[in-house]
Amino acid sequence: MALKPPRKFVSTVRDLIFWFYAQLIANSAGFPDNYAFVMSRYKKLKSGEMKWSSSIRDHLIEWDRGKVCVYCGSDKCLSLDHIIPVSRAGVDPRVKILLESLDNCVWACRSCNSKKGDRDVFEWYGPERVYEIPRLVMSKFLKLSYRLHEAQGTLDLPDPNMDGVLDIYDLGVVITDLILRKSGRK
Ligand SMILES: [Zn+2]
Repeated sequence: MALKPPRKFVSTVRDLIFWFYAQLIANSAGFPDNYAFVMSRYKKLKSGEMKWSSSIRDHLIEWDRGKVCVYCGSDKCLSLDHIIPVSRAGVDPRVKILLESLDNCVWACRSCNSKKGDRDVFEWYGPERVYEIPRLVMSKFLKLSYRLHEAQGTLDLPDPNMDGVLDIYDLGVVITDLILRKSGRK
């Protein structure tokens, strides 16, 4: 079960990314759902006292694991899956570079790839299964999402997809793509 982000402390995209990352740390440390533990890590991440693991570490974990589907472990019919679909890159060249980079890629089998379709990994798993998202994918997604929002200047927005609530669906949002969708041109 995922802990709901406390509204009082988590009110922007930046906060929410750190909140999810704090839970990732808590899960690996063997304290899932431990509110006090998650909150203490969250505060440390937010103040900069604690840094998240480097992207290089994520790449090394992938390297060690070998070429298997990150979602189901299959070694058949693999291709690169973009955690946030490249089709969402919009017109911002900095966003395009990010979404086309290896930081946005994992190995996935044909079956998982087609189930995911044109959604980001959070949209695919949904809020109920959010902590079933493989740790490596979660770690890469959150770091990528941070850089995506940093590039767009949207880290401090309370609700980038403008659906009235700050949640996991705000993290993979590319503003130029969202505008196209809202205006019905996509
Ligand atoms: Zn698979």
